[in-house]
This record gives sequence, C-alpha cells and structure tokens, in this order.
Amino acid sequence: MERYWQQLLDSNQIVLIDGATGTELQRRGVPMDKVAWSGAAVLTHPDIVRETHEDYIRAGANVITTNTFGSTRQMLGPAGYGDQVEVVHRAAVSLARQACDNAAEKGVAVAGSISTEPPAFDRGAFLSPDEELLAYQEAAGLLADAGVDLIALEMINETVHAARAMQAALETNLPVWLGVGCKKSGDGRIVSFDHLDLELATVLDALIPMGPTVVNIMHSEIAAIPEAIKLVRERWSGPIGVYPESGYFKKPNWKFVDVISPADLVTEALGWVAAGARLLGGCCGTNPDHIKALQAAMPELRAAMGARG
Ligand SMILES: [Zn+2]
Repeated sequence: MERYWQQLLDSNQIVLIDGATGTELQRRGVPMDKVAWSGAAVLTHPDIVRETHEDYIRAGANVITTNTFGSTRQMLGPAGYGDQVEVVHRAAVSLARQACDNAAEKGVAVAGSISTEPPAFDRGAFLSPDEELLAYQEAAGLLADAGVDLIALEMINETVHAARAMQAALETNLPVWLGVGCKKSGDGRIVSFDHLDLELATVLDALIPMGPTVVNIMHSEIAAIPEAIKLVRERWSGPIGVYPESGYFKKPNWKFVDVISPADLVTEALGWVAAGARLLGGCCGTNPDHIKALQAAMPELRAAMGARG
C-alpha cells in the first residue's frame, strides 16, 4: 500500500498526478475503439501502456493512473471483450506496477481509474441500474484485488450513475478520489462538463457527503477551474486536485487542437495552488512534458501555496 501521496498532503506538499492516459496512448499510435475507447489497450498494446506510465513517473508523477477508464463491463461488453473484463483489469494494474518497478525512485502510487461512461459514450446505452452497479463493483473489486492504492472516479458529471460508481468504489475501503468535470456555460455558470443544465454545485452536493478522500476537478475547461475550486472549497475541507483537459473530443479520438503549453499550464497551476489545490496533473490532451514542467516549477508552486495558506 503506497501512502507517500498522503504523506505529501499531510505535510502540506503538492502531489503530482500523471497526465492523460487514454489520449496519450492515442497520440502514441494506439487506435481508439469506437465502443470502449482505450479500454482494451492493455491487451493490444501493453508495451505502449507501460512506457507511457514510465514516462510519467520519470517526469515526476507521484501517482499514475491505470488504463481502465473504458474497462468496465458496461463498456468492454458491448465492445466484444465481455469475457476479458477481469484479465484487462489485472493486466492494467500489472503494467502500472511494472512501470513503478522500472522507473520509480520512491513511493509512486497506482490509482485505479473507473468511469461511468456508457458504451460508445451513448447515454441511451447504460446497463440496467442493477447491472450497472454490479459492473462498477466488479471493476472496483478487481482493481482492489490486483493491488491499486486508491480508486480514481473520473469524468463524474452527474449524480445518478455517479452515486452507483461511488458506492462501488467506497466498498473497497480504499481511498476514493472523486473526479468531477466542469465547464463554464454561455451565461457564466459553472456546470457539469457534459450536462450543461446541471450545476457543478449540484453534483458536489450529491457526492461529497458519500465520503471521498480527495475531490479532483478533472477533465475540466481551464477557464472554469478558478470558480470550480471556490465551489469545492465551500463544501469540502479535504484535499483538492486539478487536472484539466485541453483540446477536444470527436468520438472516438482526441483532437490535439490548441493544447495548452506546459509553461502556460504552470502559470495556471500557480493560481490553482494559491486558491487551495494540492494535487496537480493533466487530463485528456496533456502528456509527460506537462508533468515535467509542473515538477520543474515545484519551488514556485510551493511558494504560491503560501499565498493563501
Ligand atoms: Zn480527460
């Protein structure tokens, strides 16, 4: 059990998370499945997955994320990998652990990613509520059994499916990182990343009481993040993380258009840290250079922390 990230937080240090996993695999040549996105890449391209993890560790990440965002039975089943859900989860954790063995000097934790995405990102294609909960329990149980250090719920953008995933994650008794996505609506409200009629505040009010260990503002629009941090702080006194997206998604591929430069990410991150964020990384569109830049700027980031305590 790797708790170095918790020691960093406990001593008011900054924790570096990795950058994108799925879109970075795409950038390195792994084809994205129309139904399960990067969900089966650990079977088809294990070396690229391992190397990507290693590059993030060498860039300075304290936490790397398994390539299991698209690997619940809900996504893998309709993609034709229904009989390989277990082997995918075990392979994903094994590749992350191998990367730690190969590249880590100290205490890199492995976060097991779970999303509530439906197959092909089609909201009409969710499993029935009972089957869906079982799919999250299966994924969380496999990740825990394979030895992840925490569960990272990612792209949590509403409250119904999210509550099922949260329940499944909490049942492992591992730390649960709640990752919410947001953007700014046309009229300036901070809303869910892909449900523009749903306020981020509503998502937070529904899920924070369930008991996460960390609240991450992730796969979010950079312009929305300062206000999103305020909304989280009003409701949550525990650790807050930020790992934004940059570019845009055109199913099933990421478009690396106007991706924020590593230097600009550092500039933004100085403000997030001053506002209270303690975990930093990148989501879709980012790569190891972004993490390297955050690591290189650690003295400035630490100094910015003091700006508001
Ligand atoms: Zn993302």
